Amino acid sequence: MSSVLVSPHSKVLVTGANGFIAMWIISSLLEQGYSVRGTVRTKDKSTLLEEHFASYAEKFEVVVVPDITKEGAFDQHVQDVEAIVHTASPLAPPTMDPDAFIRPAVDGTLSILNSIRVFGKHIKRIVHTSSTGAIARIFPKPRKLTEEDWNEMSAASVEAKVAKINMKRQNGENVEEKDKPTEMEMYWASKTLAERAAWDFYNKHKAELGWDLVVLNPALVFGPPLYNSTSPSDLNDSLDWFYRSVVAPSQGASPETSLTPEEDKAALPKEASEAYATHMRQTASYVDVRDLAQAHVLALQREDAGGERIIVCAGRGTWQDWVDAANAVFPPPTSPVSHPLPKGVPGVQGIFLMQYDASKADRVLGMKYRTREETVRDTLLDFGRRGW
Ligand code: NDP
Repeated sequence: MSSVLVSPHSKVLVTGANGFIAMWIISSLLEQGYSVRGTVRTKDKSTLLEEHFASYAEKFEVVVVPDITKEGAFDQHVQDVEAIVHTASPLAPPTMDPDAFIRPAVDGTLSILNSIRVFGKHIKRIVHTSSTGAIARIFPKPRKLTEEDWNEMSAASVEAKVAKINMKRQNGENVEEKDKPTEMEMYWASKTLAERAAWDFYNKHKAELGWDLVVLNPALVFGPPLYNSTSPSDLNDSLDWFYRSVVAPSQGASPETSLTPEEDKAALPKEASEAYATHMRQTASYVDVRDLAQAHVLALQREDAGGERIIVCAGRGTWQDWVDAANAVFPPPTSPVSHPLPKGVPGVQGIFLMQYDASKADRVLGMKYRTREETVRDTLLDFGRRGW
């Protein structure tokens, strides 16, 4: 095992500090002795965080950075820290246009890197939170994707669709729904382009930098949230998806699927039932948020993680696998949430398009993962405590 690069007692800057993943990263860092400065966009978010981490008042502070894309936005916040964890990036921006996803992701990353280049005299390491979305590729025959793979498809598709839309507008033609990039395409494009920007910056300036870069590429992230939300509508995108698939399909199992409470299924039109079954067959690779937080801490600590892109993924499964796990952990009638758990479509077969090779995370970070059952149990118990 290599020596500890950024040791506990150092100060770490975490961007997007109020996010689902960042709150667990901060919690892990504080528990392990680090001091943390978090950045948020508004004062109300900083107050909530200060309240949440009140027991670490001496080691935790929050600063407001209203616009992470603005040149110099981070200049004064990076001067006395030894490491940065950059998580801030839009998952569900207020407008569904490519710029709303891509600009903050790319320019926010470049803005902080430019600040560090000039003012980050003590910095040893940057950990950039990317995504398996920056790796995702579909081959005619499914094969395991590694850190060598890049998602070349999403950014190209978004660019082509935007060009077509602009041309249609110029010609006075109607822009149809099918002309527009999908939310997933725009999000994956934003993650790919932001990660590329980080690597390009790092490779260009490497010789003059006193720090190195680690990129983590997590799969879909589930687990109990730390934020103080009172309504499931506050959940971040990945947990919202989990909630609407595993806990309350009556609220729409996926963005594309209409509602199917078990008891109403017989009354549903055939297409809705089929859409629900299709949703339950979909597979996703996943990681528990608490394991991902620990991966960020290890990425700061492990010297030989420097310069590496690392997939962080505990496994994969269909939504049906999650529903089955929920029912196995909480056999009826022991539902921890405010209503019986859905049964999904028992026995449905998965559609496996992609699989990630997470062996580098084991090798370099020594990752250990919680089981699906632990993740589902703790998430549902948390939702139940909130009365959901
Ligand atoms: P959250 O939505 O909970 O947190 C996102 C954070 O980014 C929030 O602090 C948010 O601030 C901030 N943010 C969003 N848009 C902007 C913007 N335009 N300018 C500045 N800050 C912004 O998401 P997660 O915690 O799930 O995601 C954190 C990171 O992990 C992201 O980079 C995401 O891409 C990545 N990731 C997430 C996965 C998942 O399944 N959740 C999977 C793989 C990667 P505010 O509250 O003010 O909007």
